[in-house]
Amino acid sequence: MTETTKQLKPDKQQSSNEIRMPGPVVAICGGVGGAKLALGLYRILEPDALSIIINTGDDFEHLGLHISPDIDTVTYTLADLNNKETGWGRRDETWTFMKSLEALDAETWFMLGDGDLAIHVERSRRLAGGESLSAITASFARNLGISANLLPMTNDKFSTVVKTKQGVLSFQDYFVRQQAKPCVERIDFDGIDSASPSDEVLAAVSQPNLSAIIICPSNPFLSIDPILSVPGIKQAIRASSAPVVCISPLIGGHAVKGPTAKIMTELSFPTTASAIENHYSELIDGLIIDLVDRDESVDISRPNLVTKTLMNSTEDREELARAALKFAKSL
Ligand code: GDP
Ligand code: CA
Repeated sequence: MTETTKQLKPDKQQSSNEIRMPGPVVAICGGVGGAKLALGLYRILEPDALSIIINTGDDFEHLGLHISPDIDTVTYTLADLNNKETGWGRRDETWTFMKSLEALDAETWFMLGDGDLAIHVERSRRLAGGESLSAITASFARNLGISANLLPMTNDKFSTVVKTKQGVLSFQDYFVRQQAKPCVERIDFDGIDSASPSDEVLAAVSQPNLSAIIICPSNPFLSIDPILSVPGIKQAIRASSAPVVCISPLIGGHAVKGPTAKIMTELSFPTTASAIENHYSELIDGLIIDLVDRDESVDISRPNLVTKTLMNSTEDREELARAALKFAKSL
């Protein structure tokens, strides 16, 4: 048993306010914003009750490594290894590898910490050996003491591509190298026609006793849309009798972090709760918005819950998770 496992388990048990849902729960999420709520759900649900479908549209090859940024963020967050300041990567990280790369005049725009390197090297090695991303992700989660099911949305090649005023950019070029500054005109998904959901994703969504599907407050365009556009996932969600609840990633018309509001403006959407509702209109049964936006409640046609959605502390994450599950139960 690793140090992490020893630390995490008692910590998770300390959350005495475990919630009993009639059945398992599926969360749909990207990286930083999504992982915050995923952690809240993980901490209040019984072990094994949570499956998290994670965006892989951000995945890319870099320095010969297969990097899955959103899977890593969720993995580190649930294993309590995440860097809370940056929102990505591991805490207590060292940077010898990056400094050594720099000395070689190699590419250093994508930061890979020394500890973080292990997950990319080992993932790449196992992928090259023929294992699926699903199997590798599940095995990493198990080894790090995580009892939730972490599910990459697909095992197939699928890449988010951003068409901007400065040209067509691969996702990480847009998001990291150019810091999401270029004005977005369109977002495309390369590989969309030949991708299919992993078996684990379809199995999670079609559990007959599923009690809720929670769309986390992730970027709708860059984190959730890639998941929903994998042929078969939307259909499976619609076929489920579980209520689908979305938590708005906007608070007061702004993103807490990242380019969600900026992209909405660039794509000519208002940065409002009802625009979020419309974005998911074919899919959701209810929307959760922040207290700050309570006046916008009247513009939402579906059942909605107005509550604190800003997650600063662990308690905030648990409280929002509890509110979301209770709201789902009421639908
Ligand atoms: P990424 O993959 O790392 O870009 O992360 P996500 O797509 O999962 O999350 C980005 C979104 O999370 C942004 O739109 C933020 O507004 C949203 N977000 C981050 N923290 C919070 C929070 O505490 N509350 C809410 N409601 N949204 C948040
Ligand atoms: Ca992401």
